[in-house]
Amino acid sequence: MRTIAHWIDGKPYEGTPIGRFAVENPGTGEVEAELLQASDADLDHAVEVARRAQKEWAKVSLAKRTEIMFRMRQLVLDHQDEMAKLIVAEHGKNYSDAVGEIQRGRETLDFATAINVALKGEFSSGISTGVDIHTLRQPVGVVAGICPFNFPAMVPMWMHPIAIATGNAFVLKPASATPSAALLTAELYKEAGLPDGVFNVVSGNRTMVSKVLEHPGIDAISFVGSTPVAHIVQNTGVTHGKRVQALGGANNHAIVMPDSDLDFAAQHISAAAFGAAGERCMALPVVVAVGGCGPDLARRVKAHAEKIKVGYGMDEGVEMGPVIDAKSKEFITGLIDDAESRGAEIVLDGRPLVIPGHEKGHFLGPTIVDNVPLESSLYTEEVFGPVLAIVHADTYEEAIKQVNSSPFGNGAAIFTNDGGVARRFELDVEAGMVGINVPIPTPVAYYSFGGWKESLLGDTHIHGPEGVRFYTRAKAVTSRWPSEKTYAATMSFQREE
Ligand code: NAD
Repeated sequence: MRTIAHWIDGKPYEGTPIGRFAVENPGTGEVEAELLQASDADLDHAVEVARRAQKEWAKVSLAKRTEIMFRMRQLVLDHQDEMAKLIVAEHGKNYSDAVGEIQRGRETLDFATAINVALKGEFSSGISTGVDIHTLRQPVGVVAGICPFNFPAMVPMWMHPIAIATGNAFVLKPASATPSAALLTAELYKEAGLPDGVFNVVSGNRTMVSKVLEHPGIDAISFVGSTPVAHIVQNTGVTHGKRVQALGGANNHAIVMPDSDLDFAAQHISAAAFGAAGERCMALPVVVAVGGCGPDLARRVKAHAEKIKVGYGMDEGVEMGPVIDAKSKEFITGLIDDAESRGAEIVLDGRPLVIPGHEKGHFLGPTIVDNVPLESSLYTEEVFGPVLAIVHADTYEEAIKQVNSSPFGNGAAIFTNDGGVARRFELDVEAGMVGINVPIPTPVAYYSFGGWKESLLGDTHIHGPEGVRFYTRAKAVTSRWPSEKTYAATMSFQREE
């Protein structure tokens, strides 16, 4: 059995593990590796190494830092195939989707190659006679990144390129089910010339995450995962004096107006609901069909969804893989069963799907459920599976009320050909990322990513300009040189002229 170790101080590190996590291939149901679970001493070692490395790294010139980021960007491109195969084997998503997440993650490396521009400060000359002011943005220190299973390359890449390029050291805690892309990333940073200790990977269980949240050597925490854990991270991290951004779960809605091009909408809704087996925080699990367009829309979405080729992620032509594990499959199936027992109509049933040759894989086919009762857990919970729930509203006003009643506010979309309605939606909707005829409105990396309400705790969104702000502290420097005409010291707080 292959053992997956940590990565500390520029090399693999085994330390004194307190246990081993069985890393399964969701497409085969076979355990393919064992992941070491760090002890307190292992975490302490990683943080100590990171603190030491950060002090030197922060002194490295922006020219050198951006050069390393350029090299890293190229290395990620060169190793895209290898990284994508690791993702398929541990997450299950199909190969082209794995490539897609690496490409989107690489956008943040692109952004980090221009960190010199993002870090430009402000300067005002002569704010008083002979007195100038300028600002600096300096690194916060050691940043920990705690990541979910569903984007093993992209979500960490939302964090570490900006954290590192701004002069911090980084300790990445990958999800235990999908750790290998993080370890390949560590090797590539080393090859790119990043000094040892600036990027580290430490795997562990909940207890280790609790230690991360309390660790005096960690200054800031970027978390992406489910909302209940986001609350733990936010509350504990802030109590221990850390800067925290905690991105949580989602239950994204799209409104479909009766004036929209229904086939265009159906095609895009099918891809957004079932891509990556619905295991995206920006997936589209709910459609609110307005003004009676629901039955026609359901028929059209079904026509597209039926054609999706589900199977093992590396097999030719496969467009959708399994869900992550048996527990997840059972959870999703239970939600569909429950909605059905409450009177919902199963338009397309993915529950019986079996993939020949992969009978032990955790496969579920695309499932469409119409007239989903609003009190059913299929509607209220984050399903995180290949299920589309359809609900109905008579008017736009009723539909937007429905969308905004969700405790989550990650993404939201509208399909319409009416610019006036689109504009109202953009202003009315309580979500951080909004799509007009775009069902997965994930911002490019030079904008920032984040939701509202239970989908994001903390103040800043992730990557882009808000990422730079999160990973740096502001400093304002006021200076004068006594050779100039200077005022005598005064006890008054009045500004000198
Ligand atoms: P999760 O919350 O179970 O785990 C996230 C991380 O937290 C993992 O590294 C895990 O080891 C750790 N963790 C889990 N339980 C913990 C606990 N009780 N205490 C401390 N640490 C704990 O999430 P997941 O199942 O890996 O990922 C799916 C979730 O992530 C979904 O809710 C999805 O919407 C969300 N997600 C959100 C975004 C976003 O941008 N908002 C992006 C991707 C995924």
